[in-house]
Amino acid sequence: MKLNFELVPDSCWYSNLRSELPQEVWDKIRKKAYARAGGKCMICGAPTSRLEAHEQWEYDDKNGVQRLKNVVAICRPCHEVIHIGRTQLMGREREASEHFMKVNGCTYAEYRKALGEANEKHRERSRREWQLDVSELPKFM
Ligand SMILES: [Zn+2]
Repeated sequence: MKLNFELVPDSCWYSNLRSELPQEVWDKIRKKAYARAGGKCMICGAPTSRLEAHEQWEYDDKNGVQRLKNVVAICRPCHEVIHIGRTQLMGREREASEHFMKVNGCTYAEYRKALGEANEKHRERSRREWQLDVSELPKFM
């Protein structure tokens, strides 16, 4: 899937870079991601003047390490799909499911299946503590 859910484990104490970094550092990272995107969402390719920065993490399930992989600039509809839990709470799941199906060229059943799998993975990963690895961070500054 080109666009998929990225649910950050509940147990993570440092899941959101922007709340942990000094404002000017985050601004620098954010603006660099926007410049790389060149006015287009880095996931779906839609042209937009309103990009949002998103941190992508990878999980080493064996060693319990959550590693910063990339900071991308994406459109709001893609961002709402990625953080589907929050989007559901805001009552915007229908819009998000439509965007997911359009970008991935899939059916509603496939959307539900992917969501079920993401929720299962999230439950599993939320049962433990994660060590954060942000050694790649300077690359994005
Ligand atoms: Zn997008």
